[in-house]
Amino acid sequence: MKKIGVLAVQGAFIEHEKMLTDLGCSCTEIRKRSDLCSLDGLVLPGGESTVQGKLLQELELFEPLREIILSNTPVLATCAGLILLAKKLSNDPNVYFATLPVMVKRNAYGRQLGSFHCTAGFAGYRDVEMAFIRAPYIEVAEPVVEVLATVDEKIVAAKYRNQLGLSFHPELTDDTRVHEYFLSLSGS
Ligand code: GLN
Repeated sequence: MKKIGVLAVQGAFIEHEKMLTDLGCSCTEIRKRSDLCSLDGLVLPGGESTVQGKLLQELELFEPLREIILSNTPVLATCAGLILLAKKLSNDPNVYFATLPVMVKRNAYGRQLGSFHCTAGFAGYRDVEMAFIRAPYIEVAEPVVEVLATVDEKIVAAKYRNQLGLSFHPELTDDTRVHEYFLSLSGS
């Protein structure tokens, strides 16, 4: 059984846990340093990236999580999680883990009207359900990054080594294929 750590300091973490448990994983909520253990995968959920970034520092989780990301453990980062991974933000001076070589635009669809559902191809799967909530998108992906999904010509999913960054929330739909793809990534 795979053991997946789900960052649980703020945001939509319970929905990831439910989906991963339904797919046969055991989930560990990460709220403090002592919750960290050897993991087969890490989820950085959606929420508010500025709040999450602050809490990660206050709880002294930032450095150990960055080490886990750099250690090649598969990482699924949705929405605010994508913002935390991005090397650069185009409309915000903050950077957080800076481990994913992309430039991300926060609230890229507008603050109020930026929430919508759609379906699009993802990593060879057709018509994957995607829920966007005040979502970012990837404006620039360095050539080493694999683009896994686009919507209206904007990059909404990308992979670099062990890191999978999504603009949207697959955990808020009934479609489990993005989580299955994440679980198929190997940590080695
Ligand atoms: N707008 C949020 C941010 O900038 C991200 C939204 C989300 O995670 N659904 O952090």
